[in-house]
Order: sequence, then structure tokens, then C-alpha cells
Amino acid sequence: MPKKNTKFIFVMGGVLSGLGKGIATSSIGKLLQSRGFSVSCMKIDPYINVDAGTMNPTEHGEVFVTKDGIETDQDIGNYERFLGIELTGENYMTQGLVWKTVIEKERNLEFGGKCVEVVPHIPEEVIRRIKKVGNKKEVDFVMIEIGGTVGEYQNFIFLEAARMMKLKMPEQVMFIMVSYLPIPSKIGEMKTKPTQTAVRTLNSAGIQPDFILTRSTKPIDNKRKEKISIFCSVLSEDVISSEDVANIYEVPLNYQTQGLDKRILKKFNINMAGQDMKDWKKKLDSIKSIRKRVKIAMVGKYFSTGSFTLSDSYISVIEAMKHAAWYNKVKPEFTWIDAEDFEKKKLDISALAEYDGIVVPGGFGARGVEGIIMAIRYARENKIPYLGLCYGMQLATIEFARNVAKLAKAHTTEIDKKNKYPVIDIMEEQKKNLDMDDYGGTMRLGNYPCSLISGTKAQKAYAENNILERHRHRYEFNNKYKSKLEKAGLVISGINKKQNLVEIIELPNHPFFIASQFHPEFKSNLLAPHPLFREFVKAAVK
Ligand code: GLN
Repeated sequence: MPKKNTKFIFVMGGVLSGLGKGIATSSIGKLLQSRGFSVSCMKIDPYINVDAGTMNPTEHGEVFVTKDGIETDQDIGNYERFLGIELTGENYMTQGLVWKTVIEKERNLEFGGKCVEVVPHIPEEVIRRIKKVGNKKEVDFVMIEIGGTVGEYQNFIFLEAARMMKLKMPEQVMFIMVSYLPIPSKIGEMKTKPTQTAVRTLNSAGIQPDFILTRSTKPIDNKRKEKISIFCSVLSEDVISSEDVANIYEVPLNYQTQGLDKRILKKFNINMAGQDMKDWKKKLDSIKSIRKRVKIAMVGKYFSTGSFTLSDSYISVIEAMKHAAWYNKVKPEFTWIDAEDFEKKKLDISALAEYDGIVVPGGFGARGVEGIIMAIRYARENKIPYLGLCYGMQLATIEFARNVAKLAKAHTTEIDKKNKYPVIDIMEEQKKNLDMDDYGGTMRLGNYPCSLISGTKAQKAYAENNILERHRHRYEFNNKYKSKLEKAGLVISGINKKQNLVEIIELPNHPFFIASQFHPEFKSNLLAPHPLFREFVKAAVK
């Protein structure tokens, strides 16, 4: 039992995945935070992968990197953006990580000769991790989102952990079910049966939800609230409508209107503190009146899954761009461009002329790279604002080396190991990881300091000299080419002094051409847009 009276709120999903449990979790956290409580959030992923770093973004969405360098699920990003806090690896666990820990303990004889069993030992490890976050002195509430959907074999062990916690500390644990209510077009009516079935499934895991958030295209009506109330044993005022909204940042306000946070506090017997959602609300009101648009082309490769476009691969980039656009009083309009279309001539490079700004986000491997380099060249030559993020910085360096510094066919050793001009090269300490096929969690990850060079555009954007930004890469700007590229006009605007690494490059005589080795998108939020995104959009609007 934690010494403190921390409250634990589990959020789980029913009917289908992709309901926005992460946004629901963040939004509830936001409301509790706005009443002066300190909130932490955790995400549990049911995968065997030990972290999200080894999952393809088109399968699982973006890999979000925490400041302490753990490769986590994109929902950690949602929590950080909504709550304006920085989380760590402790706020994330996967099935694989939990099992790995238990097996390691077994190998170390930590179970004292006992037979180690799936239940209770695995859920106990899950509980240990949750309580560790709850035990932090500054934490009043821990929101725990269980990935996947109830009824899957994969997440049963986590439901088991939640059930066991409720048994041991009934006053401190609460369950919220996020469920889906379809409105089949042929019937034209909102159906509650799938939700009823999902709640029954949850019940069979020994869990009764305290609240049900109903996800649908429309708000739920009273008739259906009553139905869910009766069939799912939840008071009808605890059935909370969570219909689609134009802007995800409105979700907390929608829950607030329905009194969700008050109901949660009442159930926990906590005295209501005052609430401050003023800035948030003001911001959202100001967004509603924006009419002017800015057209942004995102050039990359992790966009499609079958015949669908999956923008989740770059969710932090999109959110950071929205924050920056709203700050600049414009609405962002994104177009996903698969760089291979330029290579295969399915799309002419001049198609980029219609965009106000071009972004190349992070990436790995050879596919689409030549197309991306074509796009960067187009942005440079046609003075279209360009923002390069990680791979977007490396490929901008290559483009500059090839076409301005005339180092023919310059490349990164990630793609061409024997290149004559390896302007991007593997970091020395990364070589052994690749030699030993040690890929999981071994990149240069998390926060690293960067010193900005006075007078550069990057330094002016930050209005600071020393920054901390998050990284995820194995390759780096090759210092052997530094002076050659600088002589040709490339400006190096930020370096890591300790490791002697180039972290930001930029071009003068261009409305905006900045590319960073780190991922600034991980540090933006609604009320505090990231300086590089903010200045990029400002230039794009001009
Ligand atoms: N593939 C590059 C590297 O490993 C860039 C990584 C990224 O864009 N996150 O260095």
C-alpha cells in the first residue's frame, strides 16, 4: 500500500481500438490538474516489444521519446501536451518489459525458490510499477491507460492487476471505460449493444466501471444513457458523452461541462477545489475564430497502411505544427506527400510550389530518400520555408553537400557505407551496437544539451543560448566536412559541446531554412508552442 493517499484511475477501452483513450486520459488528467491536483499518467502497451522503439510507426504510430531517453507510445506525448509536464520511462510499460523484469528477478533468485506464476507474479510487477509512480511525493492522481480493448488475451494481465489493486485499496482505485457507439448508416440510430457486451466482458474480468465515456460521431441522448445505465450498472449521470469534436483540445471542456471531474472527486470523497481552465478556454475560443490557412507539405514515407493514410506516425509533428499555427493565427492544412512519388515521377517536384512550407520529419533507411532530397532542394532553391527534423536535418546536409558544395553523390553511411563523401556518418559509440545487432533502446536517446551560436536564426528563435532537446538517432553530421560545408555557405547554429556534435543547421539568405538533429516536436504544447515551429509557421505565413 502506498503511504500516501494517491488515487489511481484506470482507463480502458471497449468495442474497438483507436477510440482516443489517450485523449480521454489526458483530458481527465487536465481537469484534475486544473483543480490544483498534481497528475501523472501512465500507458500500458500490451505488446511483447520491450519498448516502442522497435515497432514500425505505420504499425503502431509514432515513437515518442521521453526526456530520459525511453522510446514510448505516442500517448505519452498526448499526456505531456495536455498536462504541460515531462514524463519519464517510469510512466510507460509494455507486456514485454513486465515479463522481462519478472524473468530477470527469477534468474536472480529473487522469488526465494517459489514457483513463479503468471498470476499473481506478473500483475504484481505491474502493480509495483504503478505504485512507484503513485508514491512520488508530488503525485495526487495517477491515470493509467490500458492499451488495447477489453476482451483481448493480450491485456488480460493488466486488467487483472487493476482488479487486484481495487481489491486491496478500494477507496483509491477507479475505473473508466471508453466505449464506442456506432451509428450504422442504414439504421440511422446510435446502438448501445456493443458497449453493453464490452462492459459484460469487463465484468467477467472482475471489474465494474465507475464511468462510461461514450465515443461516437454524435452526443449520446438521454434514452441511450438510460439504457447503458440499466444494462451496465452505471448511474446515468456517469455516462459521459464523448462525441467527436473539431479539435482534440476541446475534449476536456466537453467533459467539464458534463461535470465529469466533479463526479470523480465526489466518488473519491475529495473536497472540490476551485478550478482554473481560463487560459485553455481562451486559447480554444481564439482558435475558433481563425479563418486564414497555411498549407504545409509533409514529405516522408511512413504514411500509408493499405489504402489508408496514417498520420499517427508523425502525431507530435502535427500537434506541434497546430500549436505554432494557432499561435500565428492561421489554420494548418497538411498534405502528406510520399517522397517515392517524386522518384517514380508520379508527382512532379513543382507540385511543391503551392505550399507555404515544407517539413521533412524523422525517418530511417533508404526508401524515399532521393525523393526527399529532391524536395529539400526545391525548398532551398525556391525559398520555401523548410523545417527538417532529425533525418530531415541529415538529408538537408546531404542535399547541400551535393548541390551547393559540389560533393557529388554525398550521402549518409546509413545508406551508402562506401560513399566518397559521407557527410552524415555513424556516431563512433554506435558502431558496436550495430556490429552486435543490439538495436533495442541503443540509439542516442533523450535529452542532450545544445549551445546555440549567437546571431543565428535558431538562437534568435529560442532567445536563449543553451537548450535541452530530445534525440533519437545513430548517425550524425560528419565534422570532417564541417569547414567545407561552412565555406559553401551552410551555417551551423547549434552544437553539443561535450560530444562535439552539430545539432542544428540553417541557411542564410532564405526566408526560413532550419533543420535540427533533435526532435523539437516532442516539446511543444498548446499554450507554449515550440520556437522552431513557431518561427517556421511565421515565415510560411509571410
Ligand atoms: N536514420 C537517422 C539516424 O539514425 C535519423 C533518425 C531519425 O530521423 N529519428 O540517425
